[in-house]
Amino acid sequence: MMYLRELSGIPVSGLSTVTKRQKGLLARLGLKSVYDVLMYFPFRYEDRSRVESVADGLKENRPVTVLARVIDHQSFFFNRRNHPKIVIEAGDYRAILVGFNRPYLVNSLKIGHTYWVNALFHYKYNEIQAAAFDFEEYEEGKEPKHFGRVLPVYSLTEEVYQKELRTIVEKVLTEYLGTIDDELPDYLLSARKLISKKEAVSGIHRPATIDEMKKAKLRLAYEELLSIQLVVRMKREFQREQPKERLYPREELMRSFLADLGFQLTQGQESAIADILKDFRAPHSMHRLLQGDVGSGKTVVAFAAMICAAENGLQSALMVPTESLAIQHYRKLSALCPAGPTPPALLTGSTPPEERSAILEGLENGSISLVIGTHALLQPEVTFRNLGFIVFDEQHKFGVEQRIALARKAENPDILVMTATPIPRTLTLTLYGDLEVSVIASLPGGRIPIKTKWVKREHDTDEAYRKLLSFAETQLSKGFQVYVVTPLIDGQESGRKDDLKRMAEFLKTRFKQFRVGVLHGRMSPDEKQKVFEEFQKGEIQILAATTVIEVGIDVPNATLIIIEGADRFGLSQLHQLRGRVGRGGNASFCALITPTDVSEDTVQRMEIMVETQDGFRIAEEDLRQRGPGEILGIEQSGLPELKVAEVFRDEKLLLTARSDAETIVRSDIRLTRPQHEGLSSGVVKWLPASYLVSG
Ligand code: ADP
Ligand code: MG
Repeated sequence: MMYLRELSGIPVSGLSTVTKRQKGLLARLGLKSVYDVLMYFPFRYEDRSRVESVADGLKENRPVTVLARVIDHQSFFFNRRNHPKIVIEAGDYRAILVGFNRPYLVNSLKIGHTYWVNALFHYKYNEIQAAAFDFEEYEEGKEPKHFGRVLPVYSLTEEVYQKELRTIVEKVLTEYLGTIDDELPDYLLSARKLISKKEAVSGIHRPATIDEMKKAKLRLAYEELLSIQLVVRMKREFQREQPKERLYPREELMRSFLADLGFQLTQGQESAIADILKDFRAPHSMHRLLQGDVGSGKTVVAFAAMICAAENGLQSALMVPTESLAIQHYRKLSALCPAGPTPPALLTGSTPPEERSAILEGLENGSISLVIGTHALLQPEVTFRNLGFIVFDEQHKFGVEQRIALARKAENPDILVMTATPIPRTLTLTLYGDLEVSVIASLPGGRIPIKTKWVKREHDTDEAYRKLLSFAETQLSKGFQVYVVTPLIDGQESGRKDDLKRMAEFLKTRFKQFRVGVLHGRMSPDEKQKVFEEFQKGEIQILAATTVIEVGIDVPNATLIIIEGADRFGLSQLHQLRGRVGRGGNASFCALITPTDVSEDTVQRMEIMVETQDGFRIAEEDLRQRGPGEILGIEQSGLPELKVAEVFRDEKLLLTARSDAETIVRSDIRLTRPQHEGLSSGVVKWLPASYLVSG
């Protein structure tokens, strides 16, 4: 007996009942092992478990399965060719199966014989016809292969046909189903009324009924969710077991930093700082997620914590995904940093060599206590004397490996990750179940909601677009600044003004009295920095940019953002972009530009953007439209994969799995009991190597 995943060690070539040709087909689909084949789940099912009537199909305009006798062969002439018309009788109905270019049909549908037929019938030329159909000979007392049950429908590739793939999967099931062991212990199966793994694998590929298929999915989804929850629980336990020998008794410097900010912290910011102080002073390391919508003021929270670390003699590092963001944070912290710690250092890929070696030295000997940087911080030459606290800003832009790489430079450091992607609770529990969570729920007071408008444009002379441009002019004349975002750098598609180069030219001609800057990812760091700085200082009034500005950029004097080709962006991205404005006390605006003719999906996205600024609603909608993986990078989250479960739809199941995981880990913290062997084998890959063996 083996666990399903262990079948990944058995290559397809070793299958005895599968022909060489069929093995070739599996290779075309990228299926290399028995495991791969069994995990190649159908993406939908066709219910052929019941025999219905032609009338049902006509009435509801859907394919139905009927038992039909062939009573005649006719033909019709079209395109210089004869095509067969197979006349069938099913119940009280007479119908025609039209076989365009399928002359061989007269041999496989013989007069006088009876067939299972699945077809989409409709009235045409006074007859009942079907051009899309599938059939199999009916034989008394013999079980049909492709009828009388629910049929799996797999995604295919060239030269691989549904029927053949089904046959192959059947063969693999016959050969291997018997060997599959269950990961879940019996007591869980019965407590949760779940079917066994064997039944589930069989049920997902060849269910007798739709209900059976659902039971199979439920079982597999539960197992996936339970594995994730076990991993996050156990990671947490692991973290708790790591003692830390840092003390954070002092907080005076941090208090004076906060007092000098010039604004009152919001409730959310206050309690986030309180949470962090509590974690700092706990006997084990902090692993906290700070969640707050764009503009909610996460940065000062991070700064406060860093200063607190510094006044307690510890080094801290703030890691960000882009150079411009690093520079921005660096400036801000330099300006606000109270006397006491040494001024912060900035380390990025374009730090000049001399400066770089001075910084590396300062970090190594401890004379620099605050550092802000990009991926450059991960380089092996970067070492610290006593790094105690690490912040990841815009953490979804980093993979687990990167986070681990930085954390390795310290001993069980206190870690704060910050994200502006509002995540629905269910997903937080899944993705970040190993983290404590602080939420900044409201924006700083005095903010005026951003007015958003959807402008459809065919030509530059369109009334709505002209109005927008003169509105931009008004904003600029008042001394405010404007972003114009485009999806592309160079235009590939003529007719659309989606590319930065053309847009910049256009803006320069249209707004002669103002300066236009251009910013995109292919510029050198120096160039980028220069433009960005000029915009920040107000020397450039219009910034034409790609989505490089999406992340974290903070210029409160910008009050209008025009997003070109808004149909090409996802909701979360639009929300992030829009968050570039509305950062000061001034009324701010966002214009979403699309062509006149857009898809239904785009209409929905634009309408949501116009209607709400609630990041959580937008995130939920985005998840609904695109699925969680794509948005949050579940693939790089360091957690088991979700193939069947949909975190969003299966909220109740998720909560059940979560509470089961809690119970299991509480009683068997390292999953060493024999009945938990299967569970353990499923999660070991995702846990720190030392966890399952130690203790
Ligand atoms: P984000 O959470 O998106 O990273 P930032 O930290 O960049 O947001 O903050 C957005 C802007 O709001 C900054 O200009 C910051 O100085 C300002 N800000 C932060 N907290 C407050 C507050 N409590 N009151 C007023 N303005 C604030
Ligand atoms: Mg930020």
